Amino acid sequence: MTNWGFHIAKSRIIDMDTADLGVYRKVAAKVPSAKLCLMCGACTASCTARNHTPFNLRKNHLLFRHGQFKGLAKEFDKCMLCGKCRLVCPRGVNTRALIYNMRMALDNLNYTRIKK
Ligand code: SF4
Ligand code: SF4
Repeated sequence: MTNWGFHIAKSRIIDMDTADLGVYRKVAAKVPSAKLCLMCGACTASCTARNHTPFNLRKNHLLFRHGQFKGLAKEFDKCMLCGKCRLVCPRGVNTRALIYNMRMALDNLNYTRIKK
């Protein structure tokens, strides 16, 4: 069979009634340009970490935005905060500050969960 280099992704449903969107709102309050992201993927295409790992800023940002935090802390650890993505973003999103604040929020979430 011909390999076309892509596949049909499994369908998934995000339950927005139960998703925790408050964490993203707090991050967006600190980095207002985050709300301008149109998920174009230019940041991912230019990412330094992406050259060496499967790290995908666009995808991880979207998951974080929808309150889907599982595995994200480990993913964001791959980012070197080099800032290259910020230079190519057509919407002027301060991606470095966004990643840093998402990391901090995830650290706080883990800390809260460990304390419970
Ligand atoms: S390049 Fe900018 S607008 Fe495009 S996905 Fe990345 S952060 Fe969002
Ligand atoms: S700051 Fe992080 S996400 Fe942006 S290009 Fe550098 S390694 Fe990639």
